[in-house]
Amino acid sequence: MPPSEPLERRIWVDGRLVPWDGATVHVLSHSHQRGSLVFDFMSVRETARGAAVFRLGDHLARFRRSVELVGLPLHAAEGELREAIRATVRANPGATAVKISAYLPSIEVDVVPADDRVEVAIAAYDPERDVLARKTHVRVAPRRPELRVRLDRQRVKVQPEAIPPQAKVAANYLGPMIAKWEARRAGFDEVLLLDAEGFVSEGPTTNVFLVDAEGALRTPPAGSILEGITRGSLLAIAKHDGLAVREGPVRPEALFEAEEVFLTGTTAGVWPVVQIDGRPVGEGRPGPVADRLRRRLDEVTHGRDPAFAHWLTWVED
Ligand code: PMP
Repeated sequence: MPPSEPLERRIWVDGRLVPWDGATVHVLSHSHQRGSLVFDFMSVRETARGAAVFRLGDHLARFRRSVELVGLPLHAAEGELREAIRATVRANPGATAVKISAYLPSIEVDVVPADDRVEVAIAAYDPERDVLARKTHVRVAPRRPELRVRLDRQRVKVQPEAIPPQAKVAANYLGPMIAKWEARRAGFDEVLLLDAEGFVSEGPTTNVFLVDAEGALRTPPAGSILEGITRGSLLAIAKHDGLAVREGPVRPEALFEAEEVFLTGTTAGVWPVVQIDGRPVGEGRPGPVADRLRRRLDEVTHGRDPAFAHWLTWVED
């Protein structure tokens, strides 16, 4: 389909499937002006039994937690949202991802909305095909298979006392956006940020892992990070496979001493880092642990490992 034609996808908005282009809010809406939109993002994979959402219950639990941390009065029950997500994926064949958003569509004056009605939207789509491939009028930076990363020592990821990092809320992405945009302009692909104590925290939309000299997998602890579903899945898979794993504070220097470093996330999967601040990581090429975990995660999300079949929610009855 030529990109100039409307995208034939439908988005679930408060119980109705509306055309992709019709799922809009006003420019003066509270969510748009104050960054108060809460969201979650999950993957959909084809399995032998049809399309399945990966760890739907865990994503919905995290979504609920974000909603509560921000204080949005959302009353929809978990079962209702779960069925809405399954129906939206069924209505959008070929979708590889689901984004669920809760937001205040009302036009407001104060930071606390007078009209606090929360709207929920669920989009099931393919980010590559439905979004990036259609941007023919602008240059889209290619997604590199191997990352050259800047470690930003100036900024901290978030101040947990100001906005909890566990909240997936639009406002939490502004600091990381500024840092990543600067890094991009300086020729890097990605940025890693520190926490308020100077330990490694995470990337703008990814968690970070390293493989140390003893071959153990290490990742920063919950607390200053968003607890990624991919992070949790990889920790569980690694333990299941007998790998040594350690969740604990990571000094910036540990990244430079590591055998391997990689980033993880629903979009990224497992993404090897080959350079940090211009210095090679390990041998300067993707390592075997990242490669193995990437393939394991693929097996699990596609329903090819019965040990983790409980993480899949099939969309067909
Ligand atoms: N950290 C942040 C700040 C994120 O936005 C994301 C993406 N949701 C992640 C980590 C990775 O989380 P997940 O594995 O659940 O996609």
